[in-house]
Formats: sequence, structure tokens, C-alpha cells
Amino acid sequence: MENKWNDTELPATDDLAQRIYTSRLLGVERQLIMHGGGNASVKTTHTNILGDCRAVIYVKASGADMAVVGQEGYVGLELDYLKRLSTLDNLSDEDMINEIRTHVLDYRCPNPSLETLMHVFIPYKYVDHTHPDAILTLTNQANADAHIRNALGSDVVVLNYITPGFKLAKAVYKALSGSPHCRAIVLMYHGLITFGESAKESYDLTIELVRRAKKYIERFSVNAMSTTTVEMARLRYNKIAPIVRGLLSLKTEDSYHRVILNHLSGEDVLTFVESERGREVALTPPITTDYLVRTKAFPLWIENPDFDNIGQQLSEAILNYKDQYEAYVNRHKMQDGLSAFDPLPRVIFIPGIGAICAGKDAGSAGIASDITEQSVVVKGAIASMGTYRAIEESEVFTMEYRHYQHAKVGARVEPPMCGHVALVTGAAGAIGSAICRELLENGCCVAVTDLPGEALDRLVEELSSLYYKRVLGVSMDVTDTHSVGQAFAKTVDVWGGVDLVIPNAGIAMVSMLENMSLETFRRVERVNIDGTLTVLSEAARLFRLQGSGGDIVLVSTKNVFAPGAGFGAYSATKAAAHQLARIASLELASIDVRVNMVSPDAVFSDGSRKSGLWKEIGPDRMKARGLDEKGLEDYYVSRNLLKASIKAKHVARAVLFFATRQTPTTGATIPVDGGLPDATPR
Ligand code: ZN
Repeated sequence: MENKWNDTELPATDDLAQRIYTSRLLGVERQLIMHGGGNASVKTTHTNILGDCRAVIYVKASGADMAVVGQEGYVGLELDYLKRLSTLDNLSDEDMINEIRTHVLDYRCPNPSLETLMHVFIPYKYVDHTHPDAILTLTNQANADAHIRNALGSDVVVLNYITPGFKLAKAVYKALSGSPHCRAIVLMYHGLITFGESAKESYDLTIELVRRAKKYIERFSVNAMSTTTVEMARLRYNKIAPIVRGLLSLKTEDSYHRVILNHLSGEDVLTFVESERGREVALTPPITTDYLVRTKAFPLWIENPDFDNIGQQLSEAILNYKDQYEAYVNRHKMQDGLSAFDPLPRVIFIPGIGAICAGKDAGSAGIASDITEQSVVVKGAIASMGTYRAIEESEVFTMEYRHYQHAKVGARVEPPMCGHVALVTGAAGAIGSAICRELLENGCCVAVTDLPGEALDRLVEELSSLYYKRVLGVSMDVTDTHSVGQAFAKTVDVWGGVDLVIPNAGIAMVSMLENMSLETFRRVERVNIDGTLTVLSEAARLFRLQGSGGDIVLVSTKNVFAPGAGFGAYSATKAAAHQLARIASLELASIDVRVNMVSPDAVFSDGSRKSGLWKEIGPDRMKARGLDEKGLEDYYVSRNLLKASIKAKHVARAVLFFATRQTPTTGATIPVDGGLPDATPR
């Protein structure tokens, strides 16, 4: 591990700026800390509004990511008062949080770390606390003491596992008072604390100790290789992911609580699941109590997977896991005000596939997989050194069900489409892009599909900048069955399945029947009918495999009910697509798949994005009616009952209505047309 300290990069000489600089240097090292874990502090002074200069400490906020932390991620606290808490014998979590919250410098600040008092009680200016893989490899085994001494030297204090919070803070305080010359503290089953009078001193020490631990561990490493290639693992995963995802969905009164899956198929994970001791080691308690709310206390292991009959095997294994998890919860006492999580696994190890990690959204699934990867690396290294040792189950439970931990994940109200995956065709057009945006805004993960090209690239870039990993750009041609299959497969690969399909791709053409060539008619037919059929078929097969319902919302048109002269090809082909969707509603109701339609009238744009319909007919219509763009829009407004201008976002809202299952409805159409009596669905 490289020491990244660079004098020329040091932003300023003030204490907090230096604190932030080394926090970031530590934060970018995934082997040291992950996802808002770890914490750091600096003791300095602060002049208040009355001009009094007081001793203060800045501690990293709970959950703030050290890799990108700035001033807003540090909470200022009154140091002298908080130091006096070291004289107490006991302090409950609630009282501790109260003391901390009532001694902050800014009432708007986030909660500081649960380990705040530990930082307060350590009598050095800079304190760095990390959870390095290499240190955990030394601490989590039978003769940890000897390994730690041999690797790190004798001037490091080793502390037995203590629940993070006041108790740990007191223990660290006592240990340092007893060994004033120690260089650092190793916390069993937890991590490392370094300190110093300068930011550099403390940072250098973390890097030095982790380097020494890594070098020591390397001596024991054995070279093993998995017999499964990453490609094989991915192909198998693609077949079983929808089944797993279906089994991990929970039916609610009207819809489903769904999860996003993440596949771990790195060489280290594939080797681990095939290793002789893989199962035994994987099922041991976790290496630390970090992130238990994301991974659960133990994973599910599928022994001897039979890939031809995996559905049955998985469903039995998950039922069995539920029983085990409920038994684990019942063995311990739950704190007041908390309730048990659902009893479904978050991490599933399968030889020949790797690990499948689940989370209620893409972020949680990503955290679960990073923790799982760390666990594989650490537990794998320990297996080659000696005997794995871990925290007691009661402590695992205490940390999994702790108010402070739950506050990190539970406080937010989840958006209605959280954990759901949608695939939108023709996404780069006006209506398609508005639907993607509406779904993303409501927490959905969206596969944004369209023909390859600038329009798709531009949209994906725009949406990704707002919704990050919940956006997946996929080029797809709805007239090519292979391309459609690939797009669904890619979506399954990234999120584990699909729950909502929006067949929206369509093209229009203006021609009187007497002038229409069969060739041009067939061009429209291929997209509007064949394309819709292909997407409906692919969706139906996937939904059946997933076994947890699903929704399809077809973007139809007012022309299905009230066709227009010169619109033969468009009206006829859209009517066929509409009819296919109605048939799908009949065929798929028994597996709880709902198929509905929205029928807009003349949507020409979404902001600067012009619709395909507009490009095809706008200029002609304007010419025919002797109108400009604004005039044409006014014409369409004037012909509906509400005199409403129909926007792409209105269509998107109708889609969301069906997608969120507000009513038990299938095979139905919502007109989005401002009221056109001759186009009322019947
Ligand atoms: Zn910690």
C-alpha cells in the first residue's frame, strides 16, 4: 500500500483542512475502509460569536464517506465538556447521543460518528480509525496476539472486542493511560487506531502498520485457482438471477417489496466458493460488526448446486434460511422500538457462480457485495494461516439490532419504485425519456433502451448525472429478436431481473392509403407490431421465470380509438399492438402480471427533445394547416375538452399510476388527451 502523502497537495495549513486531506487519502483505499466506515478527528480551537476561543474537536459524521468528505462531513463539538464524560462509569447509547447532540457547534450538523467519544478521550491532536483487511486478518484468528506482535511489533496495544460506543471509548482511554508510549491500538475483530500531533504522523503510521500486516500475511498465502471461468459464472448467474430475485421478493397487499441483485464473480470469490473449507468458513460469524444491517448476520450457502434444477433447490434453501434467521432473532432480546428484519438472506454463496448479494436498492446491494468481497479476502487468508475466530453471536445480534445502526438505513421514507427494475423501449424520444425520468424520480432502476446513436448516448449521460447507478443505457433494436433478448439479459446481469416493461418504441408515417407502398407500411409494421410482440414475449418469459408478478404498460395512442385520415399505417399498426397488449393481460393475469395501456394525443416534445411523431408529421401538418409550431400546438389544445396542452410528463404520470399498482386494474387504458369524446376507450 502506497503512502500517498504529498506536501505540494496539502491544501492549507489549518488543522481541519489537513484533517480532511488525510481523511481522503485513507478513504480512497478500499482495503482500509468502505462505504462511510472508519472515522477520523482533529482537536483544535474555535472562536465563538462572543469572541471566546474554545477547545473543540471535529469528528467525522456518521456514514460520511472518507474518500470524498469535506468540511460538511465533520461535526464540531465542545471538547472540554465531552472529555469530562470519561469520569462516568456508564452511559447508555441514548444518553451518549444526547450529550453529543447538545454540545455541537452547529445545530444543523449531521450525527457525528458512534465512536466520537473514543476520539475525544484519545489525548492526541489527530486520530485515524480504520478497519483494514490486513489488520482484521490478524485479529480474527486463534493465536491473534502472537500474529499481531510478530507483524506489528510490541509497541502496539491490543484491546479485546468491546461494543463501539461509550464502553469502547472508556477502554481505549484506560489503555492509553496505562501505556502512554504506545504507538497505536489494535481493536480485536474491529480495526486500527493511530494518532499523532500532526496529520502526517498519524496517517504515516496507519500506512506503515497496514503494510507490515500485509507483508506478514503474504508469507502464509497459498495459490489456488478456481475451475470456473468468470464467463461461465456469468452465464449461470444470468439464468438463475431472476429466480433468486423472485424468491427474495415479498408480496405486499398491492405490490411487492423487491430487491436489486449484485453478482460477485471475481477470481477470489470463485476460488473461495470452490475451496474445500469455503462453506465452513463462509458460515462463520462476520469479521466485523460493520454493515450487518446490509449483509445480515450470516449468509446462505447452496451446497452442490444442480444447475438443471436450481429453482427447486433455491426455494427450499431460502425457506430453510428463513427458519434459521427467525431462530437466531428469537435467541436474543430485541431492544424496545425495533422489530425484526424480513428473514430473507442478503448474501448467497453458490459454487460455480460466486456470490449473489441483495439490497433494497442498487446502493445497498453494492455495499453488501463490497463487504462480502472483503469477508472472502480476509476469511480466505485466515483459512490458510490458522483457525478463524469471531465475535460472539450475541454481540453480532446487538450490533445488527441497534437503534443507532438502524437510524442509518431506516430513517428515509422509501420512494414507491425503490428496488424495482424497469425496461423502457424507445427511451430516447420525448415520451420515452419523460417516462424514464418519472420512474427514476420515484426510485426505480431503469434500463434506458433505444437504437444505438447520439440521442440514446445523450439521454443516458443526462440521466446518469442525476441518478447514477440506477441508469443503464442499452442499445436495442425492437425489430431484432436477438437484440431484444440481449437487452433483457444485460439488465438481468446488472440488477438481477426486470419488473416493469414499457413498450414505447414506435414510428409514424403520413400517407393516404391510395398512395401507400407496401414496403413503407411494412417498415412501420416491423417496429409497431413485431417490435411490440417481441418485447411482450421476452417480458412474459422473464416474468414467468421470476415468479413475482410484473407490470407492462404499453404506450398506445388516441388513434387506436379515433384514427385519422392519412394515418393508416400508424393507426392500424398501433391498434394491433394495443390488441396484443390486451391479449397479454388475459394470458398473464394468472401469474400476477398486469398489462395496461396509456393513450396520449399528439405529444410533440419533452423540453428540447422532439418526439418521433413530431419529426414525421409536424412539418407536414403545419404546412397543410398553414400554421407554425406554436399554432399547431394551439390547434391540438383547442380540440380537446379541457383545452389542455398534452406533455410527455403527463403520459409518464399515467405510466407511474399503473406501475405503482394504485388500483387492481389490468387490460385497461388511460387516455391522456385532455378529453376527446370520439377517442374515449370502449
Ligand atoms: Zn470502527
